[in-house]
Amino acid sequence: MNIMELNTKLVELLQYVNEKSVFYKRLFHEHNIDINTIKNASDLSKLPTVSKQDLQKQNAEFYCIKESEIADFVTTSGTLGNPVTVPLSKNDLERLAINESSSFAIAGITSNDIIQLMVTLDMRFMAGLAYFLGVQKLGATSLRIGPGSPVAQLENIEKFKPTVLVGVPSFVAKIVDYAQQNNIDINATSVRKIICIGDAIRDENLELNSIGKRIKSVWNVDLHSTYASTEMATAFTECEMGQGGHLQEDLLIVEIIDEQGNNLANGELGEVCITTLGIEGMPLVRFRTGDMAFIIDEPCACGNKSLRLSPIIGRKEQMIKFKGTSIYPSGIIDVINDCPDITNFFIEVTSDDLGVDKVRVIVGSDEETNPCIDNLAGNFKNKIRVVPEIVVQSNIQVISNLNKHKGRKPKVFFDLRSGRKF
Ligand SMILES: [Zn+2]
Repeated sequence: MNIMELNTKLVELLQYVNEKSVFYKRLFHEHNIDINTIKNASDLSKLPTVSKQDLQKQNAEFYCIKESEIADFVTTSGTLGNPVTVPLSKNDLERLAINESSSFAIAGITSNDIIQLMVTLDMRFMAGLAYFLGVQKLGATSLRIGPGSPVAQLENIEKFKPTVLVGVPSFVAKIVDYAQQNNIDINATSVRKIICIGDAIRDENLELNSIGKRIKSVWNVDLHSTYASTEMATAFTECEMGQGGHLQEDLLIVEIIDEQGNNLANGELGEVCITTLGIEGMPLVRFRTGDMAFIIDEPCACGNKSLRLSPIIGRKEQMIKFKGTSIYPSGIIDVINDCPDITNFFIEVTSDDLGVDKVRVIVGSDEETNPCIDNLAGNFKNKIRVVPEIVVQSNIQVISNLNKHKGRKPKVFFDLRSGRKF
């Protein structure tokens, strides 16, 4: 898409939300914004940003279509705060299919591939539906196994010979572990590619993180990271170079912004802020995702000229100011995941009266000595430059503490700072 087409799409979007969305109409009015002055993506910074809280509190005011035009209701998982409902029109379903089909194509997947979907297809989630529609749009074959046990996945691989898997990296690691423990030669299977969703497989240097390395060290497959969310209904997917997820320019405008909503330079870490293109049900203008990343604008060796988005370094609200540096739980988790002997752990962040953050890492061990844990402080120092307080408990203690906080998704990070929900 050329720049003229992009500008036209943006102008149309602003007119559309100003007419159909109660929320945006009021927002523009309150800020005295004449939408006719917004003519291209760089003008977007004149508009206020919209937060997840706005969306949670005034969800229905974002709807731009009538009830009779809603083809499917999707709900976010609500890991942080209340779930948000997103109405999709028939055309939005088609857009979702195009998005995911293009995203598969970026990863080098073709109509000849058989794709095993290890994700939830129901529960009003978007991801599974999007992947299914994308496989169909691409003309490939889907295997809707869902996120069942590693043994079920391996049986399915044996029987149907998929070439591609779509799943959460930590679950892929479980399949690898299971295959190793049961002497299954995982490299003899038909799988050649894995689309890793939900969590990052690379660090801020774009190198495989510990979970990515763990999978790759055993399984000779291509790992492709993909970043998407229900609100943006668009995916950033890595090509075979694995150097950030490619932006789909006809579906989304991406900005990286600071606290005040100002644009940051390419390469600078900030909050991912998105404006959707071509959505009818609940389009979003300058929506702050809460995810921290940076834009990569150097040309990609694959030839695709789009901007790329770095791996998600963390969630904005989870940022920890610790001993003079800013760190994210993902950095701490990555160091711990590098120690194969630590299977049970969690992280607690508290703040003292002066608002200084304190980080405790609680790891489970039943051995008198554990070299992994002895090395942990050194590994923290090397990788994230600071060393949190390390507490060793028995595995059973750690598991019982974890169970107290049981939620929909297994969590290992607990934010106990005042005024925060973890
Ligand atoms: Zn590329």
